[in-house]
Amino acid sequence: MNLFEMATSQFKKAAAAMKLDPSVYAVLSEPQNEIVVNFPVNMDDGSIKVFRGYRIQHNNTNGPYKGGIRFHLSVDLAEVKALAQWMTWKSSLMGIPMGGAKGGVTLNPRDYSEGELRRITRRFTYALGNNIGPEYDIPAPDVGTGPREMVWMMDTYMTMYNASDRNATRGVVTGKSILSGGSLGRDKATGQGLVFCFEVWAKHTGFKIPGSTFFVQGYGNVGSWAARIMQDGGSKMLAASDHTGAIGNPEGIDAHDLAKHVAKTGGVKGYAKAKEIDDATFYGTPAEVFIPAALECTVNIETEKYIKAKYVVEGANGPTTPDAEKRLMDRGIVVIPDILANSGGVTVSYFEWVQNKISEVWDLDQVDRELKKKMVSATEHVIEEMKKRNVDPRTAAMTLALSRIEAAHRERGIFP
Ligand code: NAD
Repeated sequence: MNLFEMATSQFKKAAAAMKLDPSVYAVLSEPQNEIVVNFPVNMDDGSIKVFRGYRIQHNNTNGPYKGGIRFHLSVDLAEVKALAQWMTWKSSLMGIPMGGAKGGVTLNPRDYSEGELRRITRRFTYALGNNIGPEYDIPAPDVGTGPREMVWMMDTYMTMYNASDRNATRGVVTGKSILSGGSLGRDKATGQGLVFCFEVWAKHTGFKIPGSTFFVQGYGNVGSWAARIMQDGGSKMLAASDHTGAIGNPEGIDAHDLAKHVAKTGGVKGYAKAKEIDDATFYGTPAEVFIPAALECTVNIETEKYIKAKYVVEGANGPTTPDAEKRLMDRGIVVIPDILANSGGVTVSYFEWVQNKISEVWDLDQVDRELKKKMVSATEHVIEEMKKRNVDPRTAAMTLALSRIEAAHRERGIFP
């Protein structure tokens, strides 16, 4: 099953649970636009290399297309189509006036110098041209990209406009650096949102975060922020992993200290205050909360059997395959779905876009307060929807998201 087939199977299940209008099902089952660009870039050694980039615009019924840009070797059409569809559900679930999109370039960023990455990013933005725009389609960071790439994208897009119109296009991307118009709190937003969501879930199920234990897969933006904020809330991290390997310590690993080590060395490997562990030991970490925050399909039929946690809180997009999710649920393990748990990122991206539009700068307290309001409300709605329809958390999150899009489609109809 490729990732788009996996997304489709989740969509079918939710559509059946809510008896989604078959016409709306047909509209949402494929993206509105699939843009593939092949673009040349000058390499440091004087050669020219052609890269393939994608931008998939799934749906814009509720507002401009919105979604991240991924730089990774796994990027292909099926992956980006799935990620774009999940963005539509996520924006709708969070009640933000945006749709869903995703993009990426098939490459391993570690294989290129900073200068090459800058030229790749700029040339990709140029190739996308007016297929993106602050009122049309707004990219953001994802795996392998961050504020640096977003600032390059913004700057390239701006130069395509007359000097007098440039500032109005600043909101073409979100997740920018603060200096270039980013929002305070965007760096930690996805991890922060995940913890706000989990706090509500814990309260509803009588679970106490202070004194609890957790482990994290992927110690990048989402994983490392979720870990630091969980630890600040009184929970202890017992293991962490990334592309360099997995480490564990039954006495606990300091999440802030590990983030410093990763910033310095590029990975968790070699962290002196923990031991290297193998995959089975990592997935079998005796902690109550597991936060997969790396790539998709890591919790699958092979790895699920090791998991002893009570909660799997999805920081990554699509980390749990449908068959593994069923087995986890059969074992009483709660899977808090990606489109809810990791929606803090798109929510603060939306706040950044609003601030750019009205030339305002919100302080961190305001960003966190507004994010918390949105996360708490969405999580409570999902818990109510689960009870109302007697469905699992993912299906509940999706039926809520889909019912809003369905209602908007009904109001507007189809032209002509
Ligand atoms: P990132 O590039 O900052 O971090 C990715 C991490 O995954 C890195 O630590 C990397 O080493 C690790 N990783 C890669 N391959 C691995 C493997 N085989 N095993 C274990 N770890 C591995 O990316 P990110 O922005 O933190 O994104 C992580 C996930 O969260 C993705 O699924 C992304 O789509 C999702 N997400 C990100 C955001 C955001 O705001 N950045 C928002 C919502 C969802």
